[in-house]
Amino acid sequence: MNLHSTVGGPGLAQQRHLVTEIPGPVSRELLERRQRSVARGLSHVLPIFVTAAGGGVLIDADGNSLIDFGSGIAVTSVGNSAELVVSRVTEQVAHFTHTCFMVVPYEGYVEVCEELNRVTPGTYDKRSALFNSGAEAVENAVKIARHATGRQAVVVFDHAYHGRTNLTMAMTAKNMPYKDGFGPFAGEVYRAPMAYPFRWPGGPAACAAEALDVVTGLIHAQVGESRVAAVVIEPVQGEGGFIVPPDGFLPGLAEYCREHGIVFIADEIQSGFCRTGDWFACDHEGVVPDLVTTAKGIAGGLPLAGVTGRAEIMDAVHAGGLGGTYGGNPVACAAALGAIETMSKEDLPAAARRIGDIMLPRLRKLAQQYPVIGDVRGRGAMIAIELVKPGTIEPDAAATARVAKACHAAGLIVLTCGTFGNVLRFLPPLVISEELLNEGLGVLEEAFAAL
Ligand SMILES: *Cc1c(COP(=O)(O)O)cnc(C)c1O
Repeated sequence: MNLHSTVGGPGLAQQRHLVTEIPGPVSRELLERRQRSVARGLSHVLPIFVTAAGGGVLIDADGNSLIDFGSGIAVTSVGNSAELVVSRVTEQVAHFTHTCFMVVPYEGYVEVCEELNRVTPGTYDKRSALFNSGAEAVENAVKIARHATGRQAVVVFDHAYHGRTNLTMAMTAKNMPYKDGFGPFAGEVYRAPMAYPFRWPGGPAACAAEALDVVTGLIHAQVGESRVAAVVIEPVQGEGGFIVPPDGFLPGLAEYCREHGIVFIADEIQSGFCRTGDWFACDHEGVVPDLVTTAKGIAGGLPLAGVTGRAEIMDAVHAGGLGGTYGGNPVACAAALGAIETMSKEDLPAAARRIGDIMLPRLRKLAQQYPVIGDVRGRGAMIAIELVKPGTIEPDAAATARVAKACHAAGLIVLTCGTFGNVLRFLPPLVISEELLNEGLGVLEEAFAAL
């Protein structure tokens, strides 16, 4: 197969350049092989096969260069094959690839935990534990909270996404495609309404206070405060629609948890690591969670996840109670150290804010032009638009899919999300150039013009 053998990384030509239709003939051939060999339950957003990526572009097997507004779902925030990730991983892989931290420990794991304890919100004494995936981190955070409190109930929110394992499916809100037919689900999971300003019945101004009343009232009436081990929330919801709670909601919730001895867990798997313009989305209002789950952006694309939090909660678990064969793999740890160093050195929180400053005004202008855009929201480089039937809040998933498809055909990778499938979300790598960012927005504007 005549695959283009371009080397990825930041040196890759930063341009949108299509040489075939999308997908081209080489990708189409690979798609056929995929259909014969890969389980149908795994879907894809774009029908192209990647051969290299870096900065803000992705090269496919036909030699097309596409602009990346997805970052592999908020993972490659430092860019694909970022220099410090490549050098650290290459060095580590030549030394040793695995011992299992529970058999023979290594410094890289400890260093990542030190970094996590340093960069996550809160200045109290912290401990961390490393895992393979976001879902595994969420599961472990719940295990730890239950062990530390001796309580069982877990409170989650409408539109929440916490993963696809059995416990995290129970915690995830949306049925299709995440839960349908996969039950029975884990017990002792209770769902509360989310402070969703665009859809709050009493309007955005009343949302924070009213939502807090509803959530705390529901816990009191249906669960009982003293039975709740943890409240788990994404400080900016991801898969559920990039829902940004109004100011006051998260601090109020954290305060409520403190009053009742409930472990407040921030699932920062999507919103963390500079994505929203702060190191963590909680930083925006100075919210200090008891436990934080991290994954996605943590390691420049290598699989790694973490739970970080108050030492007395983390250390409540007996020795041997946490772990896993691969959790905190040395190569993934090396990648994380390279990624975190890149975030600090290149001030990626500032880069994320700059991206938001460029995107939001252009998207707001677009919303004035096209009433199908009901809401523009997000922070930093975690930005979305919600599509509705003009003049209503009725979701328009069909228009959302059409716009996404037009973008893909024109060489712009965009993702959709939302409980109703009507949100276009933008997660460019934080190292994307301004030129590419603006060009990508131009492609989006053309897609709306053609709608
Ligand atoms: C992606 C995601 C998860 C699950 O992470 P995986 O690595 O896919 O298991 C959990 N929580 C949030 C907020 C996520 O965005």
